[in-house]
Amino acid sequence: MDRHLPLTTLIEQLGKREISSVELTEQYLSSAKNRSELGVFLSLNEEEALKAARQADQDGGPSEEMPLRGIPFAIKDIFTTSSGVTSCASQFLKDYRSPFTATSVQRLLNAGAFSLGKTNLDEFAMGSSNENSSFFPVRNPWDEKRVPGGSSGGSGAAIAARLAPVALGTDTGGSIRQPASLCGITGLKPTYGRISRYGLIAFASSLDQPGPMAVSAKDCALIGRLMAGKDENDSTSVDRPVSRWEEPLENICEGLRIGVPKEYFIDGISSAVGERVEAGIQELEKRGAQRVEISLPHTEYAVATYYVVASAEASSNLARFDGIRYGTRAQETEGLMELYTKSRSEGFGPEVKRRIMMGTYVLSSGYYDAYYLKAQKVRTLIQQDFQKAFADKCDVIACPTTPHTAFPIGEKSDDPLQMYLEDIFTIPASLAGVPAISLPCGFDENHLPIGLQLIGPAWEEHRILSVAQAFQDETDWHLQAPPHTPSKAA
Ligand code: GLN
Repeated sequence: MDRHLPLTTLIEQLGKREISSVELTEQYLSSAKNRSELGVFLSLNEEEALKAARQADQDGGPSEEMPLRGIPFAIKDIFTTSSGVTSCASQFLKDYRSPFTATSVQRLLNAGAFSLGKTNLDEFAMGSSNENSSFFPVRNPWDEKRVPGGSSGGSGAAIAARLAPVALGTDTGGSIRQPASLCGITGLKPTYGRISRYGLIAFASSLDQPGPMAVSAKDCALIGRLMAGKDENDSTSVDRPVSRWEEPLENICEGLRIGVPKEYFIDGISSAVGERVEAGIQELEKRGAQRVEISLPHTEYAVATYYVVASAEASSNLARFDGIRYGTRAQETEGLMELYTKSRSEGFGPEVKRRIMMGTYVLSSGYYDAYYLKAQKVRTLIQQDFQKAFADKCDVIACPTTPHTAFPIGEKSDDPLQMYLEDIFTIPASLAGVPAISLPCGFDENHLPIGLQLIGPAWEEHRILSVAQAFQDETDWHLQAPPHTPSKAA
């Protein structure tokens, strides 16, 4: 048995009884424990996972009704689960137990999967390096002195080190795609509204979107479509048909117009990133795609716009953490005001406080029009950039996921602006609400992975996933695992 195989291959093997769920689960659990130095898991669900695996083996493996029966998966610790703690990597929630499970997680449980454990993240999903976890940082399995990206850094590193066959992430401004890129794995941010946000601890509600992270685009396709669909508990989730994304659209590359935005190939990106992404686009051209130069003229305003909108929403969402309704309550306080102040001062880390202050500022009277309202207008212009490109010029957009490969731990942690700029290529699709995927397309001179990003029009996940699957049929970047990971589990 080889836990390095993509999820969809493992499902086939489970179906044919070539492997058992218990063997598989034991392997993942033992490798998770052997690689604890990576800081991937905040909690493991060992006993329950093994129990579920035994039951799955008895019940007969995956089937049409239970396509994930016997499959263990990892969950970013921002999704509430009724078993265990949901901490969001915050001191504030270090003992929080949710009375319910997020819809997206529940749908995978209903399909027969079970949780291996909860993965580390930047506190409240605010960050691009996982250094903002209030517990411990995550290390990049390709080079343990470097960051895995964030905020879904634990989930990204879990897949890279093959500690789980699939992991869930959330993406507000890049938190699935950016760690996927830095960890050399595949990650899908669906269209806003495609997957229910019910049960996610909210960061910025108009941007947050859950999605899968896995070895291959096919794996992401299967998990993504099983999580997708209307949920009565999330009024922004949309009732649209979800096709079988894992079955790629035929001959997708023939005549496909790939838009290459000039604003994404700028001086500030590393030369290896530019070269490998370019080679990735050529690979698709070889299969019949046709390249068109496009412009997304408002790209340069995306980061500033995002930090106004996302911080404003965060300051409002995080108001509920007051030490009374939610969160650890400060001790020895006098009066209600001191209880609030002390609980929030002790409970939140520095980046979360920075966002709350920025958000409160841009929403305050006198500044609301100048910042918040202005940012909403620029957000509309960014949305229109994408609408125009897809209406007039292209079927998908191809570009880098990140300007650089994984950077050393500590390099940017004192410089929030440098850190924010790492998301320059992921934020625009988040603001526009359109689907995007990051897939491995090569390595730089330090053998650090590089991600190719494909962006599609709203609701066209099937299209970008099909292009991604066509790319992965021809290349094996996604099958490569970090060299120091033993190729077979002990
Ligand atoms: N890195 C971005 C931020 O810090 C995006 C985070 C996310 O997508 N959750 O806000």
